[in-house]
Amino acid sequence: MNYEDFFSASLDQLRDDGNYRVFAELERQCGDFPHARAHGNGDTAPVTIWCSNDYLGMGQHPSVLSAMHNALDRCGAGAGGTRNISGTTHDHVQLEAELADLHGKEDALLFTSGYVSNWAALGTLAGKIPGCVVLSDALNHASMIEGIRHSKAARMIWKHNDLVDLEAKLASLPLNQPKLIAFESVYSMDGDIAPIKEICDLADKYNAMTYLDEVHAVGLYGPRGGGIAEREGLMDRITVIEGTLGKAFGVVGGYIAASTDLCDFVRSFASGFIFTTALPPAVAAGAAASVRHLKASTTERGEHQARVADVRARLDAVGIPHVENPSHIIPVMVGDPVKCKYISDLLLCDYGIYIQPINYPTVPKGTERLRITPSPAHSEADVDCLVGALEALWAQCELARMPMAAQ
Ligand code: PMP
Repeated sequence: MNYEDFFSASLDQLRDDGNYRVFAELERQCGDFPHARAHGNGDTAPVTIWCSNDYLGMGQHPSVLSAMHNALDRCGAGAGGTRNISGTTHDHVQLEAELADLHGKEDALLFTSGYVSNWAALGTLAGKIPGCVVLSDALNHASMIEGIRHSKAARMIWKHNDLVDLEAKLASLPLNQPKLIAFESVYSMDGDIAPIKEICDLADKYNAMTYLDEVHAVGLYGPRGGGIAEREGLMDRITVIEGTLGKAFGVVGGYIAASTDLCDFVRSFASGFIFTTALPPAVAAGAAASVRHLKASTTERGEHQARVADVRARLDAVGIPHVENPSHIIPVMVGDPVKCKYISDLLLCDYGIYIQPINYPTVPKGTERLRITPSPAHSEADVDCLVGALEALWAQCELARMPMAAQ
């Protein structure tokens, strides 16, 4: 085989299918989020980011930055080892205590990303509990799917958020067979929310554990930012809550929060925890400052929800079609991969607005979209520019509009 030919033919195929990924090269401007500069044609231009997962702008919050500067000065750059061999610093231990407290759990365990936490924790639990069957929501994130596959445990995929299908699958298994129901609270592409209470009821009825990914909810929902389970008073009914430090908390890293023994079990058996260098202490310190701030302050959450409602209303007023959902994620539907990429390119080049197109395989074919994520830092003027640009491009591309809201 000619390996280079193989690589280039595979990439050509992606291009032909309209699925080749092109990344915008940004320079974030500290203190000016969501404004940044985008590189292109040997120059940079101002850009407003409308698709960041730094949902609250905490990546530039003064208390996070000062905690990171301080830890960098105290500890230096890296952790110096795996958690197992010299890489567990006081900052890691303190952050784990903050996270356990956030979710009302006995303990928490840090990983280098949310992806790794799902992959390692699900892979370990499903793989090491004898006879465990994983019941996985059909729209679970790739990191959960890979972790479950890696475990080699038997798995059943239940229809997305469908309690009837979940119950039928649970009922088909012997009551004493170990079972793990894996699902998310806020689904990142459609922004819909799982019926957590009803899933917990089924878990109790059929003697199953529950594993809830709250990556798109931690920091954003609940009185202290503990996520949807906190908001709905359900944290104690979930066996494992998984989250990220890279989205609303604005830094990087992932974690699980659960009982002492479950965390100790994953700590002891998960290769994705054991055999990798620990997060830098400055990252742990910054994340802890962010978690602490959002536990105490509801200002960012309130402003975030208000800005989301405002953008939705403005899109409704001009008939730009978007998925109605109960979360902060606004999927603007284009339904065509080429047009979706074209609109994204024009938004960037002509209007200085950056929204990454979301195409297959991230979403099903025919549901290509622009996923808009407003933040408290977007101004009225930013919203005016966004809505005006979308209106103009919808007309230019002859895309369908929704019936306008009554004026
Ligand atoms: N779970 C879900 C549902 C996600 O959307 C993502 C990231 N897109 C992850 C886990 C991974 O989190 P991280 O970015 O911290 O690796």
